[in-house]
Amino acid sequence: MNAEIIAVGSELLLGQIANTNAQFISEQLAELGINVFFHTVVGDNPKRLEQVIHIAQTRSNLIIFTGGLGPTKDDLTKEVVAKCLGRALVTDKTAMDQIEAYFIKQGRVMTENNRRQAIILEGSHVLPNNNGMAPGMIIENPEHRYILMPGPPSEMRPMFLNSVKPYLMNDLNEPLHSRVLRFFGIGESALETELMDLIDSQTNPTLAPLAKEGEVTLRLTAKHKDAAVAQELLNDLEQKIQSRVGQFLYGYGDATSLPKVVFELLKEKHLTVAAAESLTGGLFSQQLTDLPGASSVFKGAVVSYTNQVKGHLLEVAQTTLDNAGAVSRACAEEMAIGAKKQCGSDIGISFTGVAGPSTEEGQPIGTVFIGIADDNETVVHALELNGSRAAIRKRTVLHGFDFLRR
Ligand code: ATP
Ligand code: MG
Repeated sequence: MNAEIIAVGSELLLGQIANTNAQFISEQLAELGINVFFHTVVGDNPKRLEQVIHIAQTRSNLIIFTGGLGPTKDDLTKEVVAKCLGRALVTDKTAMDQIEAYFIKQGRVMTENNRRQAIILEGSHVLPNNNGMAPGMIIENPEHRYILMPGPPSEMRPMFLNSVKPYLMNDLNEPLHSRVLRFFGIGESALETELMDLIDSQTNPTLAPLAKEGEVTLRLTAKHKDAAVAQELLNDLEQKIQSRVGQFLYGYGDATSLPKVVFELLKEKHLTVAAAESLTGGLFSQQLTDLPGASSVFKGAVVSYTNQVKGHLLEVAQTTLDNAGAVSRACAEEMAIGAKKQCGSDIGISFTGVAGPSTEEGQPIGTVFIGIADDNETVVHALELNGSRAAIRKRTVLHGFDFLRR
């Protein structure tokens, strides 16, 4: 774990006070064996604080803030961290009770802006403040831990010793283990609906969906001191997920992609592919050849944008083009067979359809046929896609890879 301490406060930059908080925290972290690689000081300025957080996220996984948790306008640490992490700010009942109790104890009247101090980032562990009002917070993400503490050393130090230190000692013993599942062919909301009870009830491992360009990612995160047990927890949860939506799962990890999975599969089976691309205009071939070593599985492609090329180079019958049309099941079938034959591959894949913006041959925008020919048979898949011209072309290619992997 490598740590960065971000001290927030313009008075630090003006030289009015020294950053003794960073010194104290560094000393404590050194004792725990946690490396501190950066001390950052930033003024009470939301833009610059945001910049500092983004930089810290790229180089540190434990990010500790002090300062700016108070009730006044210049105290903005919570707001900016919430924005950077995409988390909502909510009122915490326990913190509110503690603040009210603090005022009663001090015999003072509570003002409206003191209520602001009971506002926390959603999903955070609240750290009680026994020497002031602003509670601290710990927020866990798979890659980062964020810890927010108040600026006054008389509040920060006891909070560190009573809450943060025990947390870190435990966290070092119970590291997070995560697994990323990649899905294609199911939308984010459909996936969430299928897994709703798991998402809501799971605490270890946790389950977080994320929509990406044309696909959905699920991140499973388990916490356990024993890595083997953590893997068991992940296996159990993955099994439950597989039993519901397993047919859409195509791969694991942040670095994979549908083209990569297909590439690996073809390589493993010693199979080659060739393409006949009409509406995709070479996108499929480009994505496959983006991968180093693609020549071992990819023979080549014909970008058959016109009927003339479909007929001459792919041997699509004139009667097919005249009767069924270029955007048709029959044409996709003959294109796939033509690509396979002309390029001498084991598999031929074809793409024909209407990407828009205007309809073609009376076919609505988004009508797509993908043909796949091998030595035994030719299968044609019909799709009706939505979206812009660019989106339809992109999704067509992804569906092509998805059919190849099945
Ligand atoms: P408050 O509720 O008191 O406003 P806060 O969390 O908003 O707390 P700041 O307003 O940033 O904290 O700072 C309050 C005071 O705490 C500062 O005036 C200073 O005396 C002290 N302080 C803040 N940051 C540091 C630091 N990094 N090192 C030492 N002292 C600090
Ligand atoms: Mg303040």
